[in-house]
Amino acid sequence: MRALILHGAGDLRLEDVPDPVAGPGEIVIEVTAALTCATDAKMLSAGAHPALGPLPAPLGHEVAGVVRQVGEGVARVRTGDAVVVANSAPCLDCPACRGGRPNLCRRMTYLTGAFAERLRVPAAIVERNVHPLPAGLPPELGAAAEPLACAVHTVRGCGALAGGGVQGQFIARLAARAGARVTLLDPHADRREMALRNGAERSLPVPADDDAVAALGREAGAGLVIEAVGRPAAWRMAVRLAQPGGEVVFHGGCPAGAEVMLPSGPIHYSELTLRGAYHHTPEAFAQAVAIIAADPGMIAELLHTPIGLAGVAHALSASRGVKHPVMPTAVH
Ligand SMILES: [Zn+2]
Ligand SMILES: [Zn+2]
Repeated sequence: MRALILHGAGDLRLEDVPDPVAGPGEIVIEVTAALTCATDAKMLSAGAHPALGPLPAPLGHEVAGVVRQVGEGVARVRTGDAVVVANSAPCLDCPACRGGRPNLCRRMTYLTGAFAERLRVPAAIVERNVHPLPAGLPPELGAAAEPLACAVHTVRGCGALAGGGVQGQFIARLAARAGARVTLLDPHADRREMALRNGAERSLPVPADDDAVAALGREAGAGLVIEAVGRPAAWRMAVRLAQPGGEVVFHGGCPAGAEVMLPSGPIHYSELTLRGAYHHTPEAFAQAVAIIAADPGMIAELLHTPIGLAGVAHALSASRGVKHPVMPTAVH
């Protein structure tokens, strides 16, 4: 079969590799749709990532497909089932898992390799994080369960939101549905307009300087600020936007090794709570599948033109964060 294999920073090759075979507890799916993601772009430019095994490694982690092979002992799915497959499964046994934070599992089973004609799914994921594709839902919309699950995991009420990319739009939508009054900040007019359609009460350009940020923070009265950009400057801005006693959530991952300077004043005198948010849980993933089934339009609006495997490397380097459906067999 054909598969995209990452060999190093900037070195993604379309190769012929042996067809995968399902071992005990595993399945093999035919990939009907995968999606490109800013994380793939990060993996490609850095040549490394915590969720990526040692190189050479297959790429792609947002995926829907049809089960073509089931290994010994698999009871949850059958050959021919259309499924959405998560890119991870927690062990359920380590201290993080037993403490109720399976997204921080120390023995997480990660899955990449969605940019291929077929994909072997490890037993832990088959057992805990494979979901039926909702009836009638196009596979490229089902594949968006992974990025949406990250947003589901982060959103618990909301106020201000920095960043109107895919994650920012998802978070705006989820927070607005939960009754929050969302203010979204983004430099791009098209993203600001999309945020309004996604339920943000208002969307504004990024304030020009620290004073303007602080003024907006006082006026917006945001008890919760979510950073969905992944840049040190946006992390700093998020802290300045929070109201006294508020909470700041760092949803966007900065480049590997990045260090961030934060203003100590508001953290101390305004007693801010700062927390990170990473990845998703099987519970959030299942919720994401259900949300997409009920509201497929929110995903459709975010997807750009479908591409084949040969177009992925260009798409990832040309437009970080833009979501293209990748159809390994239908589009060349
Ligand atoms: Zn992703
Ligand atoms: Zn664990």
